[in-house]
Amino acid sequence: MINTKDNTDTAIIGAGIGGLSAAIALQQLGQKVRVFERASELKEMGAGIVLSANAIKALEKLGVADQVREGGSPVKKAEIRTPDGQLLVNMPVLKQAERYGTYSYLIYRPDLQRILYEKLAPDTVILGKKFSRLEQHQENITSMFDDGEIVYSKFLIGADGVHSRVRRNILGDSPLRYSGFTAFRGISRFEDDRFPVELGGGFEAWGNGKRFGFSHLGKGRVFWFAAINTPQGKLLAAQNKKQVALEHFKSWWGPITNVIDSTDEEDILVHEIYDRKPIKKWHKGRVTLLGDAAHPMLPNLGQGGAQAMEDALMLTRYLKRFPQDVEQALNKYEQKRIPRVTKIVNGSRMMARMMQLENPMAVKARNQLLRKLPDEVKIKRLDWILGYEV
Ligand SMILES: Cc1cc2nc3c(=O)[nH]c(=O)nc-3n(C[C@H](O)[C@H](O)[C@H](O)COP(=O)(O)OP(=O)(O)OC[C@H]3O[C@@H](n4cnc5c(N)ncnc54)[C@H](O)[C@@H]3O)c2cc1C
Repeated sequence: MINTKDNTDTAIIGAGIGGLSAAIALQQLGQKVRVFERASELKEMGAGIVLSANAIKALEKLGVADQVREGGSPVKKAEIRTPDGQLLVNMPVLKQAERYGTYSYLIYRPDLQRILYEKLAPDTVILGKKFSRLEQHQENITSMFDDGEIVYSKFLIGADGVHSRVRRNILGDSPLRYSGFTAFRGISRFEDDRFPVELGGGFEAWGNGKRFGFSHLGKGRVFWFAAINTPQGKLLAAQNKKQVALEHFKSWWGPITNVIDSTDEEDILVHEIYDRKPIKKWHKGRVTLLGDAAHPMLPNLGQGGAQAMEDALMLTRYLKRFPQDVEQALNKYEQKRIPRVTKIVNGSRMMARMMQLENPMAVKARNQLLRKLPDEVKIKRLDWILGYEV
């Protein structure tokens, strides 16, 4: 039970990647922080997450990059293929690693969350606390929870994800935008000589309105995903997820159906994918947002987690620089972050359109273009994202 009279410096709603990162960064400043998480356990089954060079840089600043490297798997192979397995693109991952001083890593999401959680002072995260609403007063911010608990803080961060209640409280509603595709994600133990585990990484295959990806996750596991164009609500209700995935990819290259087949039904997740139109302001008074609460994006640039961490570091930097002027700190935070994440939200949508093309002529033209891309162009196209450091 929380002592409702106990005034905390900062309350953070949500113990996802963004909320935990902000808590670590604020504790590094010596602030008293509490994180309130609705789940009764910190776990999200079944998913891997790619941490590209800019994410690894952020994790270094949070003091956990070594643990992430140990717990995950370096992406030393990243190919794009046609559904029948022909090579379209071989990403220059070695050149990129040399340029940025690190490979990208794939890690099991609950492992990443555990690493971040363990970096925090004991009792920072309070589980089973679902935020309901807030009031801002001269002296403090009052947060109310579904179980009737009340918490007072001087500052509040909404890190409560794509369906953020904090956002709705301070900025009102804005509609979710359905991406047009539904994602299947699975974890299994799977081996294929063409993708040796020592190398890490894997491949994606791009078809007409369908895409499949597979990558090593470390500890003998692989992570796969499938993005399938479909009307809203259709695949979400699938009873037999594995069978549905197998049906969609039955004529595709060997490793694809084999990896799906090797997965237990309960290790497959299905989600419809949404983002929101970027907004120009994330705060009201002494309450602000970060991560998906501020700027949910499609996963097509693999940047949602990285951007949540960058937000956490930038926000903390300005709170440190303007300790007596929160308004100034929050304005500066937004000036630095909003242009970058807006570009990434829009870039992710553009990538999604290109990756999920359905028209056979357009797919053919796309593939011809991809085959011809020189390494320098592949590197330059992503440099502004991967080469960034807060
Ligand atoms: C299919 C898919 C693949 C992806 N792949 C990648 C990838 O490879 N790389 C990458 O960087 N990103 C990826 N992302 C995006 C990434 O998962 C998110 O951007 C990232 O998790 C955002 O972190 P967050 O902390 O802002 O939100 P979340 O991770 O959503 O965390 C929000 C937390 O708030 C809690 N919460 C919600 N409401 C309340 C409440 N009312 N009270 C208290 N707690 C609450 C939730 O339980 C949750 O723990 C992917 C996303 C999807 C859907």
